[in-house]
Amino acid sequence: MDENFIVGAPIADPRSKLSSMAFGWAELTATRKTRTSENATMFAPSQNDVREFFCEARRKHIAGTPLTPIEALAADWIAEHPEYHRDLADVTAALAAVYDVEAGRTNPFLHLSMHLSITEQVGIDQPRGIKQAYELLAARLGSAHEAQHEVMECLGEMIWASQRSGLPPDGEKYIDCVRRRATR
Ligand SMILES: [Zn+2]
Repeated sequence: MDENFIVGAPIADPRSKLSSMAFGWAELTATRKTRTSENATMFAPSQNDVREFFCEARRKHIAGTPLTPIEALAADWIAEHPEYHRDLADVTAALAAVYDVEAGRTNPFLHLSMHLSITEQVGIDQPRGIKQAYELLAARLGSAHEAQHEVMECLGEMIWASQRSGLPPDGEKYIDCVRRRATR
C-alpha cells in the first residue's frame, strides 16, 4: 500500500459535508485527485504532491517560515518522528524513494499521511463515532500517538479490504476495529 491510497480515500460519510472545522487535508487531497485525473496518470502525481508537501512543511518549519495550518499540523507529526527526518530532508531523493514493505521499510509519507487523515477524521468526527472510539483508545493507552498507530492499523485494514473487494471503505467496520482495541 502506498500513500496515494490513503489520501483522498472516501472514508467520510458522503451525505455530510466536510465542515469548515476540517483543517483541509481531505480538501487538499481531493484537489490533488482532480489534478491527477486531468493528467490522466493514475497515482504518481498525487504521490509526488504528498511527498513534496511533507518535505516542504519540514523545510519551512526548520527555516522558521510561517506555516499554513495544515503544514503546522504536518510539522507536529514530523517532529514526533525523528526517524523520518532524513527521508524528508531531500525532496529529490524523497520523490525517488521506494519503500519496500516486504523488506520491512515503513513509508514515512504513508505513515504521516495516515496521521493527518486520522487527525482530520477525529477533528470532524467522520466517520461518525471515530472521535469517541479514538479518545477511548488514547485514554486506555495513555498516548495519543500510540492510539493513532493502532487506529492506523484499522484504517489500513479498511482500505486494503476496499481495494480487494472493489467496494467503498466500510466506516462501520473501521470504527468497530478501533473500539475493540479501546475496550480489550
Ligand atoms: Zn506515528
